[in-house]
Amino acid sequence: MRLSKYFLPVSKEAPADAAIASHKLMLRTGMVRQNGAGIYTWLPMGLKVLTRIEQIVREEMNRAGAVEMLMPTLQQADLWRESGRYDDYGKEMLRITDRHDREMLFGPTNEELITDVFRAYVKSYKQLPLNLYHQQWKFRDEVRPRFGVMRGREFLMKDAYSFDLTEEDARVSYRKMFCAYLNAFDRMGLTAIPMRADTGPIGGDMSHEFIILADTGESAVFCDKALLDLPPPGLDLDFDSDLNAEVEKRTQYYAATEEMHDEAAFAAIPAESRVSARGIEVGHIFNFGTKYSLPMNAVVQTADGQMVPVQMGSYGIGVSRLVGGIIEACHDENGIVWPESVAPWHVGLINMRVGDAACDAACDDAYKALTDAGMDVLYDDTDERAGGKFARMELIGLPWQIVIGPRGIENGVVEVKHRKTGEKTEMPFAEAIKKVAPK
Ligand code: ATP
Ligand code: MG
Repeated sequence: MRLSKYFLPVSKEAPADAAIASHKLMLRTGMVRQNGAGIYTWLPMGLKVLTRIEQIVREEMNRAGAVEMLMPTLQQADLWRESGRYDDYGKEMLRITDRHDREMLFGPTNEELITDVFRAYVKSYKQLPLNLYHQQWKFRDEVRPRFGVMRGREFLMKDAYSFDLTEEDARVSYRKMFCAYLNAFDRMGLTAIPMRADTGPIGGDMSHEFIILADTGESAVFCDKALLDLPPPGLDLDFDSDLNAEVEKRTQYYAATEEMHDEAAFAAIPAESRVSARGIEVGHIFNFGTKYSLPMNAVVQTADGQMVPVQMGSYGIGVSRLVGGIIEACHDENGIVWPESVAPWHVGLINMRVGDAACDAACDDAYKALTDAGMDVLYDDTDERAGGKFARMELIGLPWQIVIGPRGIENGVVEVKHRKTGEKTEMPFAEAIKKVAPK
């Protein structure tokens, strides 16, 4: 992408009401624009990152056997009356009336809708297990939308829903999502810790929140340090045989948010392993058995001909919250430091003297060579001052920068800068392209 033809509205200052680094940086780099309380326009660079996160989530859901679909944002109130949640949900639900005076709502989540889809098509245990997911905008009329996209009112969520015949099968489905989550967050450069979460009247141990540590996180969290050092299950995980070991490896350690915290159990951990910190909830998985299938009559026939309510679980990831969460975890005093997997572009190419025939030609060649090698390149071909170009490139935080100027051309070299380490080296372009290539 040539910057002169792109739309990247970078600004020097962030509005005073942006309280945390990620919110400030998202506004300054022109990733989002606020349109109302908790409501944002995703500008081109913001959308690029959001799409990359969505794609990682999609790949890991698919790898775990979930099947993608798309449900609408607007739902009929009547469905929610069947489950009893239309009245229970309270003020967070945005209620809408259409021209025929039908009551509708902007979905804050999709358990009712998916249960309705399920009962329309699935009748037999032979069609199970099944896990259906989508990535769709949700609306929750939060009392205090804040921290930019971290707590928005309109936000993008991946929500998956599992359907099983027995409680035992449901446990397997739950564990698949547990492992898929660890892999997905790891691919985004994050260490997400699964923490026991409240199951309310459902009971049991099948609810976990996935938390990334950050000083600006909204939840107080407590865990064993060992959890921070465990490698993810890995993309070669065998979902049919390795699940239990992977899950138990983690659930043996203490990890809880404030609501579930047990001071005595925490005190039993050796002092040097006790982590008491703040965290951001980036995902939540929950098995709720027959909570919706029973009232909504989503039943399947068993092998011996009985009709039983299907066992369900739901699995959310805060896709738009993750954009802020990743920046919160990956930035320095000069700006964002994107992990390669979600960076909007892989390389930033800077032309130090636009209009100089040799510089323009060298940059055009470099741009083509990098692009042909499969890399996403942002080419700064604007005629601004060098200082401004450098600062902007630092701010938007692409993993690599390649700088081409008249002096380097004379010496047959370009400058390569690694954003994360700050390391700068001069080398011929043929070497530079190898150095920056994704490994
Ligand atoms: P929170 O406790 O942060 O309000 P929640 O428990 O209500 O979240 P879930 O219903 O579990 O959220 O939703 C699944 C995921 O969606 C959460 O783990 C979070 O990452 C994301 N999410 C929830 N609410 C918001 C919001 N207002 N803005 C952005 N992301 C959100
Ligand atoms: Mg939650």
